[in-house]
Amino acid sequence: MARRPMMAANWKMNKTVREAQEYTAGLLPRASDAKEVDVAICVPFTSLHEVGRMAENSAVIAGAQNFYYEDSGAYTGEVSAPMLLDVGARAVIVGHSERREVFGETDEMVARKAKRAVEADILPIVCVGETKEERDAGRMWEKVSGQVGQVVDELDDAGGESVVFAYEPIWAIGTGDTATSEDAQDAIGRIRELLGETKGDGFAGSVRILYGGSVKPENAAEIMAQEDVDGALVGGASLEVESFVELVGAAQNAVAQTDE
Ligand code: PEP
Repeated sequence: MARRPMMAANWKMNKTVREAQEYTAGLLPRASDAKEVDVAICVPFTSLHEVGRMAENSAVIAGAQNFYYEDSGAYTGEVSAPMLLDVGARAVIVGHSERREVFGETDEMVARKAKRAVEADILPIVCVGETKEERDAGRMWEKVSGQVGQVVDELDDAGGESVVFAYEPIWAIGTGDTATSEDAQDAIGRIRELLGETKGDGFAGSVRILYGGSVKPENAAEIMAQEDVDGALVGGASLEVESFVELVGAAQNAVAQTDE
């Protein structure tokens, strides 16, 4: 596998601090077995300080699910990049479809967040994806390429390793309705091509592009086997240590198979 795969958990609005501690304590020793996979857990702000502390000097990357691109000021309810760094976050989800759809985040805001995260040395996991209506109307690529293009325009000279994209078809998130592995490869392959055209082959060859949308232990191996798929962003199946560890194992096996 050309790039180091990443398995990222998105807990969404779940877990108290006590539950986060229990989960992290269970995950840490098991994640260190997956030597060739980056394992990230993107947790609510309330648990981030504790998870960041527990994950320090471990194989697990503590991540947030959102932040705002200004560093301080009159932005009630928001959290900045320096604040994330202060509590040990090394990654952040940017532009999740729930942020875009429920909280009105625009492509422009998402692009500014991606840029600010890269500047702050926090790895942004930038989510893109189409609705069912857009896919059925044949507008998947128009939507996804527009979202990717806007982010790329903001990234200046950043290298491909400083950002992660996640292709998450909205109709597959939390629905149990996974995209076929061919659909995932098709969209992710096209995103990589577009990044090659706009940022150059070096960027396209090193940027990681994850798939997200009802990934679970039963379908992970097939998705991970696709050439351009570098891992997964996982909601529901990341909430229990056991099933998330199985997904990390699927990524580790995919590396082993490519190396054979
Ligand atoms: C997500 O939250 O990004 C996600 C992909 O959720 P789920 O795995 O539950 O579909």
